[in-house]
Amino acid sequence: MTLPLPIGSTIGIIGGGQLGRMLSVAASRLGFRCHVFEPGAQCPAGQVADQVTTAPYDDADALRAFGHAVDVITYEFENIPTDALDLLQDLAPIHPGREALRISQDRLTEKMFLQELGLATAPFADVTDAASLETAIARIGTPSILKTRRFGYDGKGQVRITDPAAAAQALEDMQGAPAILEGVVDFSHEVSVIAARSLDGAVAAFDPGENLHEDGILRSTTVPARLSHAQQTDAVLLAAKIANGLTYVGVLGVELFVTPAGLIVNEIAPRVHNSGHWTQNACAIDQFEQHIRAIAGWPLGDGQRHIDVVMENLIGDDMDRVPVLARTPDCALHLYGKATTKPGRKMGHANFVKRP
Ligand code: AMP
Repeated sequence: MTLPLPIGSTIGIIGGGQLGRMLSVAASRLGFRCHVFEPGAQCPAGQVADQVTTAPYDDADALRAFGHAVDVITYEFENIPTDALDLLQDLAPIHPGREALRISQDRLTEKMFLQELGLATAPFADVTDAASLETAIARIGTPSILKTRRFGYDGKGQVRITDPAAAAQALEDMQGAPAILEGVVDFSHEVSVIAARSLDGAVAAFDPGENLHEDGILRSTTVPARLSHAQQTDAVLLAAKIANGLTYVGVLGVELFVTPAGLIVNEIAPRVHNSGHWTQNACAIDQFEQHIRAIAGWPLGDGQRHIDVVMENLIGDDMDRVPVLARTPDCALHLYGKATTKPGRKMGHANFVKRP
C-alpha cells in the first residue's frame, strides 16, 4: 500500500500561531516539510517551518505562489477570508474542506447544522435588528447571551443579557454585526472531544477532556473528564456524527456542556484545539500528528490515552512560572516562542501527567 502524500511533500499551513507551530513539528516528525502563510512577522510557526510567506490574506500573488509551492493545504484557524480560499482551492487540495469552514465560521449556520443532525444545542434565534432581538428574548427569555455570528473566539463578541431592558444596549455593543441570541445553558461542567476523520472515512476520537475557562479563555483541561460511561460514549458518537456529517478530513474539536438532561453542543472548531494539547504527553499519537496523518491521506494513528493528565495553559505572566515548572517532575512544557508577553496571551502550556 502506498501513502497518498509521499514523505518529503510540502504541507501548506495557513496561520502561523502556536497551533501552526505544533502542526509543523508533527509534520516534520513524519518527514514532511511545512510552508506557513501568515500576515504577522516573526510568527511562532515560522520558527519551526521549512518556509514562511509573510503576506496579508488579500495578497493574491503571494497566495498564488504559496498554492503552487505546496502539495496540500490546511489551516490553524477558521476565519480565513473566502476570497483567499477561492484562489487557493484551484491550486492544491484544502483539508478540512470548504463546507466545514462555511459551517463553523458562522454560529447560526453551525447551530442549524447541528440541529439537522439531531444534536442538542442551546436554544437560539437569529438577530438582525432591535425587533428580531425583542422577538428572540420573548421566546428564549433571560438570562441569555447575544453573540456575533462570526469572528468570536475566547469569549469575545459576546454580551450576556440578564434584563430585557438592557437588550438594546447589548445590540448596540455589537455595532451592527449579525448576531444570534442563545439561551443560557445550566451546565455542571464543560468537556470537549477531539476527533479525527481520515480521507477514507475512518473516524477516531481521543478521550473527552474537562475544560475550565477563566474570563472566556481556556485555563485547563483535565483527562479523564467527569463523565459517566454513557456520557463518554455519547460524546464520542456525537463528535463522529459531526465529522461524518461534514465529510470532514482532519482533526476537529467539539465543545460540549454537560447537563442532567444530556450533552449539549456548544461549538465546533474545524482544527486542532487547545483542549487537545494534553494528547502530546498522554497518547502515542497526539492531535497534531493525527491531523497531519488525516490530511496526508495516511491511516489514523493510535490515540489511546495511556495516562491521566492535566493540561494548563500558560497565559501572560504565567511565563514567570517556567523556571519552577522546568524543575517539576511529570511536567512537560510546551512554549510557543512568542517574543512578548501580554495579559491574556497564550504563551505556552504545561502537561502534568499523573503517574499511577
Ligand atoms: P463560546 O465562545 O461560544 O465557546 O463561549 C465561551 C464560553 O462562554 C463557553 O465556554 C461557556 O463557558 C460560556 N457560554 C457560551 N455560551 C453559553 C451558553 N449558551 N450557556 C451558558 N454558557 C455559555
